Amino acid sequence: MTEHEPVVDLQLDRAHSARIYDYMLGGKTNFLADRMAAGSVLGVFPAALVAARINREFMHRATRHLAGAGLRQFLDIGTGIPTPPNLHEIAQRTAPDARIVYTDNDPIVLAHAAALLRGTPQGRTAYVPADVTEPAGILSAPQLLDTLDLTRPVALSLNALMHFVTDDGRDRAHTVVETLKAALPSGSTLAMTHATADYSPDTMNRILGIYREAGTALQFRTRAEFLRFFDGWELLDPGVTLSHQWRPDCPEDATHVTDAEAACYAAVARKP
Ligand code: SAH
Repeated sequence: MTEHEPVVDLQLDRAHSARIYDYMLGGKTNFLADRMAAGSVLGVFPAALVAARINREFMHRATRHLAGAGLRQFLDIGTGIPTPPNLHEIAQRTAPDARIVYTDNDPIVLAHAAALLRGTPQGRTAYVPADVTEPAGILSAPQLLDTLDLTRPVALSLNALMHFVTDDGRDRAHTVVETLKAALPSGSTLAMTHATADYSPDTMNRILGIYREAGTALQFRTRAEFLRFFDGWELLDPGVTLSHQWRPDCPEDATHVTDAEAACYAAVARKP
């Protein structure tokens, strides 16, 4: 570190959503406060381990599908701590020339971003430290504009992110997503997962409390609220599902988890 670099406070004494999720996925980038919060979540919702894994697996399948369908530019906001295979590894397996921009607002993700930047020689990856609630800053970031051509289709992904954007009576989450959608040309896609309390309201309410105590606001959304994020775009088959039911690799994958255990909606849509 040079004397000019700001010292980043990773706040290891309090739980962070990225590190709680890393713990749920079996990762090593988490600390005592994160593991204690994760333990409280698992105490009321043991299936959180399953929910995290199948959320991540949706990203794998959606990315593989989109790269197979010809998408070559990816913008992944709320990337999370690197967990192989990362999005660029999946996309570049199908399309070695794929370009990927990652964004997250947690300094720990930035600290581990090197793992996100090791892609194919034909492709390109970049990292923008930014907050999704300031979409204009993401869309005008030099790292993004150097990597993606916003006049050509972009596969936007917002996986397990927007439940961290609370509305506070201002419809903020939908406004943010509409700003991002408006900046992308026809043929672009939006892949998204989002936690819901539709199937187990009491359990999910207790999870809200655990996150709130850890300093993180959460807002679960209903199926109708989730669907509204895709307004004006065409949902790809099979439409809105629970995360494990979106184009499963084999039929059993869609049935071995209950809706309450999945607790996350998933969908992919295309801009007409
Ligand atoms: N998309 C990944 C990781 C999900 S965990 C996956 O689905 O596997 C959620 C991530 O969103 C965390 O890394 C957290 O730091 C990030 N995040 C939360 N609020 C954010 C915000 N306002 N802006 C950008 N990133 C945010």
